Amino acid sequence: MRFDELLARPALISHLRETFGAGRVYHAYLFVGPEGVGKRTAAGLCSQALFCQAAPGERPCGDCPGCAQFAEGHPDVYRLQVPDGKTQIPVDSVRDLTAALSDRPFSGGWRVVLIEEAEKMNASAQNALLKTLEEPPEGTVFLLVARALGALLPTVVSRCQVVRFSPLPEETVRQELLRRGAKEGDAKWIAQISEGSLGKALACLNDDHLPALMRGAQAAWEAARSGKGVAAAAGAIKVEKDEALLALDLFESIGRSCIREGDEAGARLVRAAMEARKMVNSNVTWQYALERMLMDAAGR
Ligand SMILES: [Zn+2]
Repeated sequence: MRFDELLARPALISHLRETFGAGRVYHAYLFVGPEGVGKRTAAGLCSQALFCQAAPGERPCGDCPGCAQFAEGHPDVYRLQVPDGKTQIPVDSVRDLTAALSDRPFSGGWRVVLIEEAEKMNASAQNALLKTLEEPPEGTVFLLVARALGALLPTVVSRCQVVRFSPLPEETVRQELLRRGAKEGDAKWIAQISEGSLGKALACLNDDHLPALMRGAQAAWEAARSGKGVAAAAGAIKVEKDEALLALDLFESIGRSCIREGDEAGARLVRAAMEARKMVNSNVTWQYALERMLMDAAGR
């Protein structure tokens, strides 16, 4: 993979390509942003760029011996991860890492420490990292990835260059879904409910049940609007208890796309879906909440 395939803001991509491609890097970075917006992929590309031997603007190229060695597992790349069977990165792993960093790099070039779930370090693990993070050995670059700044100690954050990743534009998600083989109709609504997260969008796309649920919701909405019996339309949508709120998200997404197409019933559907969510949360039956929503939204 190359930087131009990364889904993120163009300004952010060129900043990363230029700094990491040219090796003009700070000693520690923290990539922060919601799930599924490309932070981990970016951290991998940035690391690889430091080992790539192509021209600076072309790094990482994916073809040179440096890139090949990175792909196989470069001895100067350290990945600090949650050990199997554990839920956190223990302080001992951090101590092992800092001890290893006191030796010289194997290849004499860059050395990278990749911490893809930095929030999984507990407070003592983060504290153990502080000193090395502040004064890392020459040629060592730390790349930390986290969902939110608040998950890390302020002392850790302050030692890193913070790079923010924002939710992706809906259109970017839609295009990527199409590129990955989604049907035109599915790509549109999945992008709408993905909240700018490609990770979430792909989970929806690969869900066994969700596309069928969406088609049921679309059919129910059409039936309700054309006056063809709301009860029958609603009855056709079977959901498990934990799927009711998700089904309402789908109706809301249908409403929002109606609004975009200038159809005023869309606004009624969005409002009615919000009301239905309250009903479902206060234990009104799904069937009743759904019929009520469709009737209100269809103006009947
Ligand atoms: Zn390369």
